[in-house]
Amino acid sequence: MVERPTPNLKAFAASLEGAAPETILAAALDRYPNAALACSLGLEDVALVHMASLLPKPPRIFVLDTGRLHPETYDVLEALRQRYGLPIELYFPQAPAVEAYVNANGPNGFLDSVDLRRECCRIRKVEPLSRALAGADAWITGLRRAQGPTRTDLSILETDEEHGGIVKVSPLLGWSLEDALAYVKAWKIPHNPLHHRGFPSIGCAPCTRAIEPGEDERAGRWWWENPEHKECGLHRRPTPGAPS
Ligand code: SF4
Repeated sequence: MVERPTPNLKAFAASLEGAAPETILAAALDRYPNAALACSLGLEDVALVHMASLLPKPPRIFVLDTGRLHPETYDVLEALRQRYGLPIELYFPQAPAVEAYVNANGPNGFLDSVDLRRECCRIRKVEPLSRALAGADAWITGLRRAQGPTRTDLSILETDEEHGGIVKVSPLLGWSLEDALAYVKAWKIPHNPLHHRGFPSIGCAPCTRAIEPGEDERAGRWWWENPEHKECGLHRRPTPGAPS
């Protein structure tokens, strides 16, 4: 089911504002039974996997394996598989596209320009995400408003025009980083040790660094770019009147 940004969707989102993440997740899955949980293996997403595991009918869970993740991130994947026994689907980039990109631009061509970085993200993340969401009526993300300037005005439910108008559900929008840390600690949820070494946000290894005290949470992602460019295309939101 594709749901447009109707008054109904806005009313549903308004009814969930301020609710506990578990409540939002359960309500969303009730309304969107073919929802899929996008797990980046970061702090927020392992919390969502845990919440999903407590439900009578957990959603599909998938991971986008870009091929450039930290070794510690793969350890988290295996630990989640062991702990919860839930199927976790992996989506890889298309090999011919990766080969063509690397042959043309080198293994780290994404450092050379914003366009080349976005093209790498498109090949390794955006295209696999489209395949992962095929047939889904919604997707669940671990986005939080406190993560930085590109996420402050998000809504719990948004229509995702990039993926055919399905609904994007973000149960953790109201959480702080400390909330996420406290939750994984309380439930002893497997998580990435890099979170305790200055990495609040973890993506591909060559594009993520530890942050300094006082820096924005996502300052360590593509740190060589301006803050307004710091999205990989997975959560792009078209600006009215602007070319997409
Ligand atoms: Fe490529 Fe870096 Fe984007 Fe990963 S985060 S897909 S390595 S540009």
